[in-house]
Amino acid sequence: MASLCETCKGLCCRYFCFQIDEPDDYEEFEDVRWYLYHEGVSVHIDEDGDWFIQIMNPCQALDENYRCSVYEDRPLICRGYSTENCEVLDDDYGYREEFTSPDQLAAYARKTLGDEEFEKEMIKHRAKAHGMKKKHMREHLLRVGLLSSGGTAKPGLSSSDKKDKKRGKKKKK
Ligand code: SF4
Ligand code: SF4
Repeated sequence: MASLCETCKGLCCRYFCFQIDEPDDYEEFEDVRWYLYHEGVSVHIDEDGDWFIQIMNPCQALDENYRCSVYEDRPLICRGYSTENCEVLDDDYGYREEFTSPDQLAAYARKTLGDEEFEKEMIKHRAKAHGMKKKHMREHLLRVGLLSSGGTAKPGLSSSDKKDKKRGKKKKK
């Protein structure tokens, strides 16, 4: 009988995946949102709450017959992989969350930070990136429909402003 790998097109050799830091503020969520704009990229949170990025990109050593062309010299990570834990047998990874689009991630960031905090941070960071006043950025974001609170997120001090202020105070000591 053919082994499982002989009937598979080398699924496990067509992507790589590694752990990333859990985003805990707007800027860090923006980094993850940026990853997700790239083709073949997804991000998931596993059952332990750890964050991972997965990049669909076939290994160059996978040959046209879906075999490893460097089998004797394959990296250690490939040596530890077997059909026992492969996705062909079980594709239910028990992820807590999986993000395959920037919008899914943005919705999660909003939920995690709260609408008001999310929008204050959006205004603050985008204003900074464009050298604009927060007031003008808020007006712009309202115009383009990116503020769901309808502009109730006023350009006051956000939690990261407060953190920055504290850092500034510490430095002055
Ligand atoms: S270990 Fe699983 S995913 Fe990898 S080639 Fe074999 S059957 Fe396919
Ligand atoms: S080195 Fe070989 S076993 Fe490892 S991912 Fe590439 S093709 Fe697969």
